[in-house]
Amino acid sequence: MTPEPKTCRSCGRRIEWRRKWERDWDRVAYCSADCRRRGVRPHDLDLEQRIAQLVDSRPRSATICPSEVARAVAPETWRDEMEPVRRAARRMVARGELEITQRGSVVDPSTAKGPIRLRRPR
Ligand SMILES: [Zn+2]
Repeated sequence: MTPEPKTCRSCGRRIEWRRKWERDWDRVAYCSADCRRRGVRPHDLDLEQRIAQLVDSRPRSATICPSEVARAVAPETWRDEMEPVRRAARRMVARGELEITQRGSVVDPSTAKGPIRLRRPR
């Protein structure tokens, strides 16, 4: 029986069980060496809070664009914040706090490509 997938603590993507982890699956917490090195920094937690504040400031029927959060954090260098914001959003999805949508439909955060929107779960 294959163990249930996990969520990477850093990027929020799904980690599928692989045979190489047979002996230490219990200890696997990150999808890659990069994610293990990066972990979750105070800035990353701040991004989660900003996402939460922004979605909660809008009507329940609305969605927000990740770039709104990025621009609020770093007006000049907001593009550098886009991937960190997406990572924060994926971690929140894994905890059931957020949904990621594309064209109005909820999508899988691990595989979604292209522009996304964020909202509270409905
Ligand atoms: Zn990861």
